[in-house]
Amino acid sequence: MGIVTESEDERKISSESTAAEKKRWTLNDFDVGKPLGKGKFGHVYLAREKRSKHIVALKVLFKSQLKQSQVEHQLRREVEIQSHLRHPNILRLYGYFYDQKRVYLILEYAVKGELYKELQNCKYFSERRAATYIASLARALIYCHGKHVIHRDIKPENLLVGAEGELKIADFGWSVHTFNRRRTMCGTLDYLPPEMVESTEHDANVDIWSLGVLCYEFLYGVPPFEAKEHSDTYGRIVQVDLKFPPRPIVSSSAKHLISQMLVKNSSQRLPLHKVLEHPWIVQNADPSGVYRA
Ligand code: AMP
Repeated sequence: MGIVTESEDERKISSESTAAEKKRWTLNDFDVGKPLGKGKFGHVYLAREKRSKHIVALKVLFKSQLKQSQVEHQLRREVEIQSHLRHPNILRLYGYFYDQKRVYLILEYAVKGELYKELQNCKYFSERRAATYIASLARALIYCHGKHVIHRDIKPENLLVGAEGELKIADFGWSVHTFNRRRTMCGTLDYLPPEMVESTEHDANVDIWSLGVLCYEFLYGVPPFEAKEHSDTYGRIVQVDLKFPPRPIVSSSAKHLISQMLVKNSSQRLPLHKVLEHPWIVQNADPSGVYRA
């Protein structure tokens, strides 16, 4: 059997067990091509599933490194969560397999690579581009939250770009499937909301905060609470020390939306469906959900 098609997949999902566990893949099922990148725990390669000729990204992780960093549990959770999500702005995880030394993740190939590099190249995005991205992320997060999944680690490094220029949320390493409120410290400080850096309870509204941080970074090229010292970033986050520099010039409507998402009290943050209705999004986001340069 080849890489499953969308409709085949839907049937698999409805049959209780994990899609990722359905087929026993091996490395022999793939022609492995050029390296696409290197991560903390291994490499990612372009690959083609031999029978279907489906192009994928094969992420190869070393068990020894996963063990050493004690992230096996995190990886298991990532696979379990990501393999069940189906959304145009969420990177598909088709399945996984392993051998003695390595774990392999079969991922959707994001042709245009990392958004982070794009942002570095451009320094900052136009309002049209930023709004299109924020709208697609809001839709993807609404979908996740509807399935009780909180991502908790939305940042440019975790966003890939598909062939049409559409954003794909990748890396569900910090995500949780939850019906409860959680108290866990995780993620890179810059994108964390006050309730997470202070280690108090948090819920799905953490993702609204991160979306606000991201919106700021898309428009200004730097995250809002950046500081030289870790402790200063911490201080700026808990005080919500939000400043809008004079350059680049950003519309007051965009600043208004950012201010509505970066609110200390998580229950007061603008709900994601209201983000989609905000005038800045309505006026700037491409209705197709795809940014075309
Ligand atoms: P990671 O280990 O997830 O950080 O991946 C390392 C690098 O490989 C990333 O920074 C990307 O440049 C590239 N990469 C990872 N996954 C994919 C994918 N699904 N499609 C295209 N490139 C990818």
